[in-house]
Amino acid sequence: MAHRNSDNSASETGYWGPEKIIKAKQESLMPCSFHFYKDPPQIVSGKGAFLTDSEGKRYADFFAGVSVMNCGHCNDEINERVIEQIRTLQHTTSIYLTQPVVELAGRLAELLPGNLRRSFFCNSGSEANEGAMLLARLHTGKREFVALERSLHGRTCLSSAANGIPMWRTDPFLDDIPVHFAADAEELCRILKERGDKIAAVMGEPVQGNGGIYPLQADFFEKSAPLMREKGVLFIADEVQTGFARTGKMFAMEHYDFVPDILVGAKALGNGFPIGFFAASDEVAASLNRPSASTLGGNPVSSTAALGVLDYIRDRNLVEEAARKGKNLKTGLQEISAGYGFLGEVRGLGLMLGLPVRDGEEGDSAERTDRILEAMKDEGYLIGKNGLGRNVLAFQPPLVVEDKTIDAMLVALDRVMQMINEVNND
Ligand code: PMP
Repeated sequence: MAHRNSDNSASETGYWGPEKIIKAKQESLMPCSFHFYKDPPQIVSGKGAFLTDSEGKRYADFFAGVSVMNCGHCNDEINERVIEQIRTLQHTTSIYLTQPVVELAGRLAELLPGNLRRSFFCNSGSEANEGAMLLARLHTGKREFVALERSLHGRTCLSSAANGIPMWRTDPFLDDIPVHFAADAEELCRILKERGDKIAAVMGEPVQGNGGIYPLQADFFEKSAPLMREKGVLFIADEVQTGFARTGKMFAMEHYDFVPDILVGAKALGNGFPIGFFAASDEVAASLNRPSASTLGGNPVSSTAALGVLDYIRDRNLVEEAARKGKNLKTGLQEISAGYGFLGEVRGLGLMLGLPVRDGEEGDSAERTDRILEAMKDEGYLIGKNGLGRNVLAFQPPLVVEDKTIDAMLVALDRVMQMINEVNND
């Protein structure tokens, strides 16, 4: 796995290499642009569940570009269709009639839960959440929102006001936007009882991603749905990270016996091409009737990529595969967790799993998480991390990852935990 091709050095290949890229980032990107690892590789190519760096070292990717590359890196079946589309027609904007966007909307209508059958297309998860929140305000005529603690919904105005993770609340004036935060269904019910007549929508990720891989409580909707209905409050399901087979269902909301009023998706729908959407029933969608357009939203290239993704998920049974592989990965992670006192309980659904690293006397959990990440990278595995304390290891590989790659990653992870444990005990 951790093989290194010494003939492939940066100077011979024309790759800049990590040092020069970091310097260039520091010179010309905004200072908010951070990267993982003390010693980061320059990634130059990808195939399936693997990435390769500028020195020819191969990594099994267990983060999938934050839950984007569900169908695998550089998927030929999808990309051939996209290349054909690029050769034929790239962009017109929505004032002209094109076919891929309506084909895509029709396919989504068949796949989305319940009566969600109308979509609006844009370019990112943030933009889609922003649109969903606008729609909720238009439909209810109310201004306020409830979001959940530890949530992440985006970088735009309304969406970032709904971020429960302090590090993603960048705008100093977000308090101007009335968003209440609830820790759980009980607190949500208290807020709804008090001021439900002012609240347009509740936002929630069915499994919180950046917040540290927390699925919603099993009885979340049993407890809160009657009050949401009574008070005329919509529920917006942010499936930007969980959608498109990631959790072992096409949409993670299918794990709960509840159809959201608005469902938001992005990331994996494009498998690397920019796309976002929000979808609603005829009744709710009817409130978004003043002219609105996203210049590139629903463009033929991204829409064709998305159609390719939906076909690929269907043809390769990726929903079932994510459920099956996720079960195996979860069992393996649970076995490792049981062996080390500094690891917590594995959380998540399907191939969206989190393993918390605890604080210890010897060191802070975030620092220890970084050491695990760095050692796993050296072993040839790219693992994610998230959580409010930056101390949750995140496992979200492409859904096409092979069983033997999962098994090999678990062996390497156990080896790394052993090493961390020994250092801690020194
Ligand atoms: N919602 C969720 C649940 C996310 O995980 C993210 C990004 N990590 C976003 C929204 C924002 O998406 P984007 O970066 O495409 O704007």
